Amino acid sequence: MAGTSSTFEILDDRFNECVKTSAQLDKLFEECRWAEGPAYFPAGRYLVWSDIPNDRMLRWDETTGTVGVFRQPSNYSNGNTVDRNGRLITCEHGTRRVTRTEHDGSITVLADRFQGKRLNSPNDVVERSDGSVWFTDPAYGIDGDYEGYRAESEIGGCHVYRIDPVSGECQIVADDFVRPNGLAFSPDERKLYVSDTGASHVPNGPRHIRVFDVSEDGTKLSGGEVFATCTAGSFDGFRLDYAGRIWASADDGVHCYHPDGTLLGKVLVPEAVANVEFGGPRRNRLFICATTSLYAILLPVTGVRR
Ligand code: MG
Repeated sequence: MAGTSSTFEILDDRFNECVKTSAQLDKLFEECRWAEGPAYFPAGRYLVWSDIPNDRMLRWDETTGTVGVFRQPSNYSNGNTVDRNGRLITCEHGTRRVTRTEHDGSITVLADRFQGKRLNSPNDVVERSDGSVWFTDPAYGIDGDYEGYRAESEIGGCHVYRIDPVSGECQIVADDFVRPNGLAFSPDERKLYVSDTGASHVPNGPRHIRVFDVSEDGTKLSGGEVFATCTAGSFDGFRLDYAGRIWASADDGVHCYHPDGTLLGKVLVPEAVANVEFGGPRRNRLFICATTSLYAILLPVTGVRR
């Protein structure tokens, strides 16, 4: 039955199995300027995320509910993910690079240049199960001094890249975006979804998610048709659940799409959402980075296992 509660908007009957309408939206923290890049660490039972304009990363501890500073300065970090070995991978606007934090705390640079030219400002990142790291490189971190350092683009475009797990080489996998932003693989990793937030810079520009086919060897993309167009602002970051549904950030909350492209419903959030992450011991708690705050809600579905 379609309907709206204070927390959910149900637009398709299939959304009823995705939410528990009695579930509450919990606010876990509220002192950010622009919360982004949530990454959940199962072994430590904590969530790390970025507070970009404040040039810091925060950590919410699941066992105590407390929040502390994880890293400051953070080089204006944005998107984060946890790799197969439990290590943090981070996009940094300030240093215009993608890094990995090793288990001993040292930082390894995974990419900072393409063919000798500096990246713009990596925004969001995901690892594939073959160890390759895929990231987007829009220009938000060099457009001004609010969330990075103003600079000209050396590459002259905003592309999607793949870092090879063996050679470490960085290659362009999609070069027809205005502002590529969030990205995530389907559960079988045969599809890659990438959002374009180009409407922020081009009148009537893109505010959609595109879907690509990943080549058999996992190194190239084809297709790239529009999967869904945002009905409230733009899609920034997003994650998939085990059934391949897309839980995408939007201005009025989190929009949930069936893999067939239908908007099933929304988790309504009182602030504009930038990104989400499935976490908790059972991976069924959706963490939501929304402007000044970190929220979470318990769901009857779990995030995709990578
Ligand atoms: Mg983003």
